[in-house]
Amino acid sequence: MIKALLLLLFAAAFVPPVYGQNERERPVKLAIHGGAGAIPKSEMTPEKEAAYRKDLERALRAGHDVLKRGGSSLDAVEAAIHVLEDSPLFNAGKGAVFTHEGRNELDASIMDGATRRAGAVAGVQRIKNPISLARMVMERSPHVMLTSDGAEAFARDNGVELVDPKYFWTESRWKSLQRALESEKKTGDASHVEAADIGEYKFGTVGAVALDRAGNLAAGTSTGGMTNKRWGRIGDSPIIGAGTFADNATCAVSATGHGEFFIRWAVAYDISALMAYKNMSLAEAADTVVMEKLVKAGGEGGVIAIDRDGNVAMPFNSPGMFRGTIDAAGKVSIAIYKE
Ligand code: ASP
Repeated sequence: MIKALLLLLFAAAFVPPVYGQNERERPVKLAIHGGAGAIPKSEMTPEKEAAYRKDLERALRAGHDVLKRGGSSLDAVEAAIHVLEDSPLFNAGKGAVFTHEGRNELDASIMDGATRRAGAVAGVQRIKNPISLARMVMERSPHVMLTSDGAEAFARDNGVELVDPKYFWTESRWKSLQRALESEKKTGDASHVEAADIGEYKFGTVGAVALDRAGNLAAGTSTGGMTNKRWGRIGDSPIIGAGTFADNATCAVSATGHGEFFIRWAVAYDISALMAYKNMSLAEAADTVVMEKLVKAGGEGGVIAIDRDGNVAMPFNSPGMFRGTIDAAGKVSIAIYKE
């Protein structure tokens, strides 16, 4: 009898854990950003700060609701970014910055760490939630990136309602463009337009990275680009490997900052590559790229990144970066400046 019991215990030790139970124990995690650059501390009123924190928390909770139901990291990233795109406070969707010609041209991308599938749209002017169109490009087209009129034709073909471009108009972004144009007239050089002239924080792109219960990573980024951009300029946000990257083997990354540098330094992919080829931890890899390589290059901005164990890194070399995390228990943490 005792022998039989021992045998049973011995055998039980080799039975793999029940899939469902194991799944439930995995930690889920989500991190978001609302752009690097941050409003100068002297101009940040308690009311303004509360408004930013409120919308960042709403985005975190929207993503977390998906993850805690057992939803995918892709769904969580999309849900969190929706909230930030719909908020006029951030430079994505409603609240996007204006181009030189006074238009709003939006870019977004999303990537699935489980499969390395990716989708992106660039220069769209009538898409309320560009992150969702980027996901449709990934799931319903044989392509990775669609631009402007073509992307909108694809949207129409897939039943996405196009909005009047006026939807994206906000007074504060319009004023920023006017200040940038005046400053450009004075200096004769658009590249010298500083945040102080624009009268607000510099970047403001939004992004999310997530780890779901199945252990899959995903990343997404959405933006209006940079104030006073022209000639159909496209930044890093819709470029896979620059503004967005995800691979279950390493990490998921979403970036914000001066896009030209993020493209040239292949920022999001470089973080993943340092983990893969140099065996760096997420924190080491993200710091190496943002705090060393980009700083040396003069590229301002930051990233949010998550690895398959749920570790999060959020380095930035700008005065601030709107950012936040939510853990498996629903505990929210939000920060703007260097704490
Ligand atoms: N990275 C974005 C761009 O260059 C700007 C931002 O992060 O706000 O288009």
